Amino acid sequence: MTPLAEILHKRIALTGPLTLADYMAECLLHPDHGYYTTAPVFGAAGDFITAPEISQMFGELLGLALAQGWLDQGAPRDAVLAEAGPGCGTLMADMLRAMRPIPGLPDAFDIRLVEASPRLRDLQREALAPHPVQWLDRIGDLPQAPLFFIANEFLDALPIRQFQRAADGWCEHVVCSEGDAFQSRFAAPLPVPELAHRLADTLPGDIVELCPALPAIVAELGDRIVTQGGMAIFIDYGDWQSRGDTLQALRDHKPVDPFDGPGKADLTAHVDFEAIDRAARDAGAIASNMVPQGVLLERLGITQRAQSLARAMPDSAALENHIAAHRRLTHPQEMGSLFKAIAIHPDGSPPPPGFET
Ligand code: SAH
Repeated sequence: MTPLAEILHKRIALTGPLTLADYMAECLLHPDHGYYTTAPVFGAAGDFITAPEISQMFGELLGLALAQGWLDQGAPRDAVLAEAGPGCGTLMADMLRAMRPIPGLPDAFDIRLVEASPRLRDLQREALAPHPVQWLDRIGDLPQAPLFFIANEFLDALPIRQFQRAADGWCEHVVCSEGDAFQSRFAAPLPVPELAHRLADTLPGDIVELCPALPAIVAELGDRIVTQGGMAIFIDYGDWQSRGDTLQALRDHKPVDPFDGPGKADLTAHVDFEAIDRAARDAGAIASNMVPQGVLLERLGITQRAQSLARAMPDSAALENHIAAHRRLTHPQEMGSLFKAIAIHPDGSPPPPGFET
């Protein structure tokens, strides 16, 4: 048995079944045995590949979108450029490089990264040198200043709770011990106030998910954006409302059982974009429409950028890779529709380019 499996079995024996959120949090972020704290390599050699690792175009276009947002808000000098869950630091590095031709940028920005994994902080330090960067443990630690924020595949790594609808309550999906293995089952039905609004659009037997940390994270960002100015962009896989079991474990690019080998696979769940929209509006900010990643990148000019980069490709293999990367980011059957984006901005200033409200 792995050390993390032993720790989790002991915890279940002492305090009873774990919620899926408790299980996910330990698997991903346990200080000694968590997936993000120990294992991950991103990219082709890792367990999964993300958009910034597929092509530099992703970060360049989003960096320019945030830069235009900064210009639209009067180019504040004391602004913060922040990213949550920066992985290898590739997105931020591509954003900063793309901003260089814009007068005043990127020097007008104090760069802050919200990252839980010390290992990944080291990779980010290397990727972003010589830019001065500060790391934070939590979004709530971001300074009170105009905030230009981005997060790609960050919210999908936050722990979720999962419920099956009963007649008029919800049975929580919990994780129990079964000998040396973990078994998941649904607990007895209870009312769940955060899901009261889902009684209207679900039937008994339906599964819905809740990300308990999401509303507070969006509220922290929304509050800064309303009082200080700035904007936030979230890109992730998910949809307007959570429906069905979307918990997924990936190891070596293949789906595996989430309850086998805790800490050895990446665990994610689809993001509920309505929850982002609701939390942003509760904070007094404006949330854009949700837009598919492919549509957003086309609006930001990925085809023109792809053509210009294609002219500089050294050989036909590089050109083929480049064309495949463009397709992978934008095509509806690849990441183009599964991934969505949403922006949060203050009332009275426009959303970043590519978004509509
Ligand atoms: N944005 C990157 C990496 C996505 S993986 C990319 O697109 O390539 C998720 C990232 O979020 C990792 O950097 C992980 O360490 C970080 N992370 C996960 N949970 C976190 C938490 N609760 N607080 C801060 N960072 C977290």
